[in-house]
Amino acid sequence: MSKKIIESYRRKLAQEEGWRVKQGAQIRIALCYPNTHAIGMANLGLHTMYELFNKIPEASCERVFLPDADEMREYEKSRSTLLSLETQTPIRDFDVVAFSISFETDYLNMARMLQMSGIPVWSKDRNHFHPLVVMGGAASFLNPEPIADFTDVIAVGEGEVLAFQLIDAISEGGDKEEILLRLARIGRGFYVPSLYDVIYNDDETVFDYLPKETGVPKRVGRALAAVNPKEGTLRRAIKRGETELAEFLKNQDIFCPSTAVWSPEAEMGDRLLVEISRGCSQGCRFCWAGYNYYPPRVVPAKDILAKAAEWRGKTNKIGLVSTAVCDHPEISTILSELRKMDYRITVSSLRLDQISDELLDALVESKDQQIAVAPETGSDRLRRVINKNLTNDEIVDICGSVFDRGMLTIKLYMMVGLPTETEEDLDEMFVLVERIKDRMLEAGKKFGRAGKIITSLNGFVPKPNTPLQWDAICDEKELKQKIKYVCKGLSKIPNTEVRFMSARIAHEQALFSSGDRNIAKVIESAARLKGNLNDALRETGIDPKFHVARDREYGEFLPWSIVDSGLSFDFLKTEHEKAHEALSSKPCPAVEKCTTCGVCPTTWLADASPSLIQIQPAKVRQALAAI
Ligand code: SF4
Repeated sequence: MSKKIIESYRRKLAQEEGWRVKQGAQIRIALCYPNTHAIGMANLGLHTMYELFNKIPEASCERVFLPDADEMREYEKSRSTLLSLETQTPIRDFDVVAFSISFETDYLNMARMLQMSGIPVWSKDRNHFHPLVVMGGAASFLNPEPIADFTDVIAVGEGEVLAFQLIDAISEGGDKEEILLRLARIGRGFYVPSLYDVIYNDDETVFDYLPKETGVPKRVGRALAAVNPKEGTLRRAIKRGETELAEFLKNQDIFCPSTAVWSPEAEMGDRLLVEISRGCSQGCRFCWAGYNYYPPRVVPAKDILAKAAEWRGKTNKIGLVSTAVCDHPEISTILSELRKMDYRITVSSLRLDQISDELLDALVESKDQQIAVAPETGSDRLRRVINKNLTNDEIVDICGSVFDRGMLTIKLYMMVGLPTETEEDLDEMFVLVERIKDRMLEAGKKFGRAGKIITSLNGFVPKPNTPLQWDAICDEKELKQKIKYVCKGLSKIPNTEVRFMSARIAHEQALFSSGDRNIAKVIESAARLKGNLNDALRETGIDPKFHVARDREYGEFLPWSIVDSGLSFDFLKTEHEKAHEALSSKPCPAVEKCTTCGVCPTTWLADASPSLIQIQPAKVRQALAAI
């Protein structure tokens, strides 16, 4: 074991507060983040799972990160096995190795960390002496197939529900096979890949998944934190003056995900991060984060403010984590109370249609938020294709209200390669950016300075469980040409900076997000070949085009269908058809008894199949039944 690595880890721990080592716990968990400490500690999912696991009396949880460049050199030089941060214990000595993965691009790092731990990467090569390898995080319920052969069990859904069920199932005892079968038979929340045969058609598309044991479900339902109030239900109760119901919803016993370990050296480590809501109601047709966290739910203001009060002695910076900050029915209370506590507020993302004066004022005060918004395209027609229901005129007006407050630099997220896109659509992007730049210069006169328009271009990547899941990614060569064309056009606009993601990276992302079980071979090979994907594709003989560059038929069994996200086929198909006709749809109302997309009927309502009904406390069900 390398002394230098141990010293490096101890230095990190000395700079942190809030980490813990629980002695005598029956189940030891190595919680792995497949990226470096600096990046991982900015991930709220990691903090959440660390706190949840350590809350469970039988469990003790330590963190593990991909070593940074210096540490990696030392690992390679000393041939050390990968160690946990807290007690510098080899990962292979833990009972559970649990990966928290938010982005498919980290799959290579996951394989690499297993290789560094001396744990066989393929689940079939592991035995009873090896830890149980679990994978969770947002990427797990998008499409678990590309890493299915690495994992013993995949957590399908949200940690608040699944952490406890996992530990319960392990605590009941038995060998690894018995534990896995117990988890799979829960019916919702745990996918055990080894308990399914994948049957392929002659053309190599998936025909079906066949459970190998009785009681193992055909499709694995997504588990949700159902105790959190739905955003629309709470908003309506407040608006209609239904005080009793509103108070009831605000006073549930709710877990508030937030920073668990104070780590000032990490990215954004100088602030308290708090999740204020989950999911977004808008239904942008490309957005996996919206659909995969349906229905939008909130953490009540009182829980958020309690966390803020607890941490105020340590920091005056708070980051509100949400895909739709201003949709929170209590956002005014949250902002005004945080400002009274003298917090400098930042937000994780800002939806254009929901920018309020109140929020802008709070962000101006905080002085450390660069405003980033996402028009996605310069074409009103294309914005209807993706169901982002804003016009260019509205976007220019909204940017204007940002500039009028003296925030003269704005970042615009744009996409290239969207379905049905034409050259005219791309040209409209130049017109929109020019108009925003003119509005910025006009506002700048008042402040005696000019700002900058930073345009960030990404290639469109179709994501599982979204209405655009059937569309192919734009051909790599064509995407490259389109990115070049847009970059050239935008760079001619004064006061404008252009940043872009390469077509190659977009295609890599598409392969890891929409591939089937065979993609694990590419990931294992690329991890072994130090990230060289081209060599990995050559070595495995896998043709990426088959997985990403073809439109899929509605009748095709999609590899990620093993996970039942709750979204109905009919809903997704209708949304896909509407996309291709440039027709927009209404947002998710996030209220009780809605059946539009299928998620709530299979989670909250009694007409779902018994295995899919979400466990929800009886008193919550009773109160909501009265609505
Ligand atoms: S069923 Fe209705 S309320 Fe529930 S997630 Fe779908 S659209 Fe939203």
